[in-house]
Amino acid sequence: MTDSLSLEQRRARLEAIAASVKTCTKCPLHAQGRTNPVPGAGPYTAEIMFIGEGPGFNEDKQGLPFVGQSGRLLEELLAMIGLNRSQVFITNVVKCRPPENRDPLPEEVSTCTNSYLFEQIKLIDPKVIVTLGRFSMGLFFPDAKITQIHGRAKWVDGRAILPLFHPAAILRNLSQRPLMDEDFKKIPQLVQEAKDRAAAASPSAAPLPPEEPPTQLTLF
Ligand code: URA
Ligand code: SF4
Repeated sequence: MTDSLSLEQRRARLEAIAASVKTCTKCPLHAQGRTNPVPGAGPYTAEIMFIGEGPGFNEDKQGLPFVGQSGRLLEELLAMIGLNRSQVFITNVVKCRPPENRDPLPEEVSTCTNSYLFEQIKLIDPKVIVTLGRFSMGLFFPDAKITQIHGRAKWVDGRAILPLFHPAAILRNLSQRPLMDEDFKKIPQLVQEAKDRAAAASPSAAPLPPEEPPTQLTLF
């Protein structure tokens, strides 16, 4: 479906989603102390999409994802692979801050993802989705344990889904940082692999072979 949309249509639809999020009242989190819903941020053509859990204190204040301490760590990790946050799309499972940063409830997760996140994924159509923490992992790897599957990508529809620890978990337990670094360094390889798979799957998109030299035309 997304294939048939122009870049301009994709941009417009993503902006419409962000506008809906800003006034959303679809789940109880709209009335539990949120200041600013946080739709997500980044280019609508991003090759890499990060999905966290939900806005925290700073994100709720600013209306932007990952702007607190977890965000600082995310930026550091991005820099390690030669990227900065303006090159990737960053969003969350739920777009409104759960009170006292409690876990989002299953109904909140399903309402919010069915209303917004799954549509954002379709429209952005990233090569790699990086899930940060248990809640976004759970959307793609039901019943998995993060300690067992972190850093192991699964391929769905030509796209890699890479489950990583949440940056906040690393900040609480710095001994996990080397593991996080190692997992994070897989991202560029996965982007390349997704591109290689796409080229192999659609030879028409590959460069055309050089043309044969023209033979003598016989005209009648
Ligand atoms: N933690 C998250 O899961 N998301 C944010 O946007 C910030 C912190
Ligand atoms: Fe709407 Fe999602 Fe906020 Fe719930 S968390 S009110 S579904 S934007």
